[in-house]
Amino acid sequence: MDLQHWLGRGAQAIQDWADTFGPYDTHPSLHVDDDRFAVAFEELKGRLKDNYPFFHPHYAGQMLKPPHPAAVVGHLTAMLINPNNHALDGGPATASMEREAVARLAAMFGYETHLGHLTTSGTIANLEALFVARELHPDRGVAYSADAHYTHGRMCHVLGVTGHPVRTDDRGRMDLDALEDALRTGRVGTVVVTTGTTGLGAVDPVHEVLHLAQRHGVRVHVDAAYGGFFTLLAGADGPEGLPPEPWRAIARCDSVVVDPHKHGLQPYGCGAVLFRDPEVGRFYLHDSPYTYFTSTALHLGEISLECSRAGASAAALWLTFQVLPPTPGGLGQVLAAGRRAALKWTELITESSSLELYQQPELDIVTYFPTTDPAALSAVDAASARVLANGMTAPDPVFLSTLRADREAFTSRHPRTVADADGARILRSVLMKPESEHHVDRVHARVEQLARAARADG
Ligand SMILES: *Cc1c(COP(=O)(O)O)cnc(C)c1O
Repeated sequence: MDLQHWLGRGAQAIQDWADTFGPYDTHPSLHVDDDRFAVAFEELKGRLKDNYPFFHPHYAGQMLKPPHPAAVVGHLTAMLINPNNHALDGGPATASMEREAVARLAAMFGYETHLGHLTTSGTIANLEALFVARELHPDRGVAYSADAHYTHGRMCHVLGVTGHPVRTDDRGRMDLDALEDALRTGRVGTVVVTTGTTGLGAVDPVHEVLHLAQRHGVRVHVDAAYGGFFTLLAGADGPEGLPPEPWRAIARCDSVVVDPHKHGLQPYGCGAVLFRDPEVGRFYLHDSPYTYFTSTALHLGEISLECSRAGASAAALWLTFQVLPPTPGGLGQVLAAGRRAALKWTELITESSSLELYQQPELDIVTYFPTTDPAALSAVDAASARVLANGMTAPDPVFLSTLRADREAFTSRHPRTVADADGARILRSVLMKPESEHHVDRVHARVEQLARAARADG
């Protein structure tokens, strides 16, 4: 896809449509001459260089990458109209695209019925799921693993419900015995399981949690903000295939959140929440004196906590799904490449004498640390920090991220490491670009070199 060509086509298409409504002049108050704009634009260009190269395969750090060109063209083309998916009055075309895109997400998770919509982010999507959970269990709290996204605790606070963090096992997954203890207290109304924790990419045992939750009459919400699209690899052939049980169990959970702006190739501003029981729409009942005029059909704002939302986000996701659908043969191939990259790097790290694997990756997030002498938390922490900082310098930069592991988490995985501090930073690489598959050898070699240098300096 030639991005510049299609962006031009998009702008032209909207202009052609606009022209059918008759001519008018832009108000002088909005006039900006080209010379003046050029100065401002030059400054923008310069300032944007203060960024990390998220697009490049040598960027193996955080969960960041640019959107697919299809998403860019969909977003910018629709944005020239700037529809608001709050109400059908704000943009009927993008509202129906949103429904279609959300239906595809529901099908991906195996939901036979659903009520759902896009949101501005995973945080807001999770907030909506927890809001509905609170309405259904007003006197009970919410349990989530200690490795769950930090916003679950924060949103429990916002909603005025008690959060119950549950211990994780030595792979970063929710510990079932600890969960059962929490459920036995009768104080938990909803369990949040995470399929792909933000730090380690650990997948909670959804099927087993669901079983426990059903016994205790408790709801289950799945935070698949990061990992949701990996369901496309559940039970797949080949090394990239994932154990299917937790993913298949999502279809029987009460709600699920996925962030198309993470693994769905979208620009920021695109989360999604889906409920299995459409009846929960009743909790959103409200009156809007300003909107909901042109149609008695359901307006998306009637089932969303947010008011204005970009119709352009729906257009971007819809257009992307037309060409890269959320199926094993479509988007699944993109995720498979990142998963293979993670497995390949894991192998290289395992064979390396200068790096050690922190734990086996379940998805595409690889965690590791430089070997140090002595093997002690304080030395690992210092060496990780040095590799991160030195990696970003020319002429051959590589961009990583760090993750703080506390003493218990670290020593449960590496009992021989001397616990001379209350934790250590380790290195973390999210391999969410399929191109990583063909660059891990190079990235690994560079990180090994940095680790050896860090050891010599330490
Ligand atoms: C990213 C993430 C969130 C938060 O989503 P935002 O879109 O950043 O608000 C929640 N849960 C998990 C597991 C995540 O990875």
